[in-house]
Amino acid sequence: MNITAKTKLCIIIGDPVEHSLSPAMHNAGYEALGIDDQFVFFGATVKPEHLEDAIKGFRAMNVCGLTCTIPHKIEVMKYIDEIDETAKQIGAVNTVANSNGTLKGYNTDWLGVVNSLEKYGSIQDKKVALIGAGGAAHAMAYGVLKKGARLTIFNRTLEKAEELAHAMKLIGYDAIVKPTSELFLLKDFDIVLNSTSLGMGERVNETPVSKEYINNNHIVFDAVYVPFETRLLLDAREQGATIIHGTEMLLHQGIEQFKLYTGLEAPEHVMREALELRIKN
Ligand code: NAP
Repeated sequence: MNITAKTKLCIIIGDPVEHSLSPAMHNAGYEALGIDDQFVFFGATVKPEHLEDAIKGFRAMNVCGLTCTIPHKIEVMKYIDEIDETAKQIGAVNTVANSNGTLKGYNTDWLGVVNSLEKYGSIQDKKVALIGAGGAAHAMAYGVLKKGARLTIFNRTLEKAEELAHAMKLIGYDAIVKPTSELFLLKDFDIVLNSTSLGMGERVNETPVSKEYINNNHIVFDAVYVPFETRLLLDAREQGATIIHGTEMLLHQGIEQFKLYTGLEAPEHVMREALELRIKN
């Protein structure tokens, strides 16, 4: 690292934030492009009650880029100067870029979803089953609907799925809602997205979908990225489906951020390697 007094600061804020892989991913990108004297990326735990003060501090210090994770993606919108139209529609900001003192908010989470999926072809008119209805589901639902897919949301708590469908309806998109007891319907879908937390932590051996419902026509994309290959993805691989790891969502939202912070194309390969290295070890 070649940090000097001229080096610009990029920060991820959250509570907690220690688990974040964004610093490793972005710093690997800076190093690969030989701009690690110009940019450095680190993390800061910011409690919700300190968010306003933190943003004032970042503004005063002319911080170049601010990545927001749980629980700040909605509240941060109160304290910045501009919000781009897509982030307004989604109702959440995960990226704040400082342009000559103006703090502008963006949402790159949905691009993390779409750019990962579109590597395997267009998603226009594809039948997409989204399992889960929390924060990650919001970015997934918005992304696939914006790209013209036909969406069904399956969730354990049906009301949460209905709330998500309603939020999409308010911005002009239709989605069908089903309970997870109807996941046997998956055979009629092209793409299966998991946005539940099943498959990680204490539930590492669990999967949201019985293996028998997955077939070799499916693309199965898991938002969970620790472990690198979840029970769901292992099952899907065995069934002959195309699989997309959760790291791809993380990577592609980060690639869009990298462009907003540095103005440069991100070195995708290097940033993927940095993420996978951290997750697999
Ligand atoms: P969240 O808002 O808490 O939502 C959790 C979802 O999981 C809800 O739909 C919940 O259903 C469901 N769920 C939890 N436990 C369940 C269980 N035992 N059985 C069935 N459903 C269950 O969480 P989130 O922020 O959306 O995050 C979800 C996952 O996505 C996490 O693993 C997170 O790490 C990952 N993620 C990945 C990325 C990426 O870039 N790859 C980005 C964001 C998040 P109910 O509504 O019924 O409670």
